Amino acid sequence: MALSGPVSHRTRVGIVGAGPAGLLLSHLLARAGIESVVVENHSREYCEKRQRAGLLEHGTVELLREVGLGARLEAEGIEHGGIYLQFAGERHHLDFRELTDSTVTIYAQTEIVKDLIAARLAGGQHLEFSVTDTAVTDIDTDRPLLHYTDSGGVRHEVTCDVIAGCDGFHGICSVAAPAEQVWERVYPFSWLGVLADVAPSTDELIYAHHVDGFALHSIRSPEVSRLYLQVPATDEISQWPDDRVWAALQHRFALPGWTLQEGPIREKSLTPLRSYVRSPMRRGRLFLAGDAAHIVPPTGAKGLNLAVRDVARLATALTEWLGQGDPRLADAYADDSLRRVWRATHFSWWMTSMLHTVPGDDFNLALQLSQLRQTTTSRAAATTLAENYTGVAAA
Ligand SMILES: Cc1cc2nc3c(=O)[nH]c(=O)nc-3n(C[C@H](O)[C@H](O)[C@H](O)COP(=O)(O)OP(=O)(O)OC[C@H]3O[C@@H](n4cnc5c(N)ncnc54)[C@H](O)[C@@H]3O)c2cc1C
Repeated sequence: MALSGPVSHRTRVGIVGAGPAGLLLSHLLARAGIESVVVENHSREYCEKRQRAGLLEHGTVELLREVGLGARLEAEGIEHGGIYLQFAGERHHLDFRELTDSTVTIYAQTEIVKDLIAARLAGGQHLEFSVTDTAVTDIDTDRPLLHYTDSGGVRHEVTCDVIAGCDGFHGICSVAAPAEQVWERVYPFSWLGVLADVAPSTDELIYAHHVDGFALHSIRSPEVSRLYLQVPATDEISQWPDDRVWAALQHRFALPGWTLQEGPIREKSLTPLRSYVRSPMRRGRLFLAGDAAHIVPPTGAKGLNLAVRDVARLATALTEWLGQGDPRLADAYADDSLRRVWRATHFSWWMTSMLHTVPGDDFNLALQLSQLRQTTTSRAAATTLAENYTGVAAA
């Protein structure tokens, strides 16, 4: 009996992962006339519902507009000109417009993913959900291979010019391209995030330092609030019933004359906080982008923005290389990206260290309050935060 092998295909760029990085890379390459195949191990529905980032730097918004993804973003995105920093019973406003002439925009990652999937499918791009057993091989040759089994159980082998590993922190591509050096910091706390069906109680995000732990009031839409609590890394969601979540939020945000509105909690999640950078971001013909190459704690709202900047740079580099035969930008990709990654890594670590409390460490607490006071009273210190937050300072 003859045994049938995998179905063979040919493409220019094989992309692992249909998160923001993989989908946007495919979109940018298609605009430059370069074909790609994207494979994703979750369903389309799962990808479109996974709650994560919500805050876009000005440069991210500009890029999405330029590449035809601005329609819903313009209609539904909420532009913010600053943030509030709360500590020691006071709330201070940092005015980004005034300090840096720049803004940020609230538009959920779920919506960007929906826009990108719709654009990819409308463009007739090869996008496969619910695949299993993804593997990349032959990355040190001119013809790297992407292998996967589709949702119907059929095995495929795609011959590529280049493979892009956009498969997040737990993906397979970073394993296929072992790092020469890794820098990592695991923090002793997590973020308990809730999505609540209640109008936000604030016009801009509130970052609240509190002796019991950090709290963040973020916004998803005029009807939906996103709220976070610092909790010990050892906690489990079952320890945080809704009434305990609201009580802790009320306590940490408390301010005379201001009320935190409560509503039904639709979703709850725990995110461990971690900083992680690996080098290099490339091995042979396998390039890593987004969370596959680096992780920042969400305090600086940088992860999604970094992923977008990685693939913007990678798309240009691959267009020059595969389109015009010039490999210089592709060769520079890893080093150029790392400079920007380290800027975001420092800012995210700094915001995390300034705002999250360590039980029993009064020395640390006093340093944090001093830093917060300086950030809200010195124009130079406030501008440094604003430049990093809006992305004006991106290397
Ligand atoms: C609670 C929270 C809040 C955040 N807030 C912000 C914020 O405000 N601003 C900001 O900029 N960032 C924020 N981030 C970070 C941001 O969400 C991530 O940095 C972003 O998702 C990175 O995109 P990515 O495409 O690189 O990776 P991912 O979004 O992780 O996508 C990777 C994809 O690859 C798929 N995959 C994995 N393994 C395989 C495989 N073997 N085969 C096929 N597919 C595979 C995964 O299913 C996934 O769909 C936040 C993150 C969290 C958790």
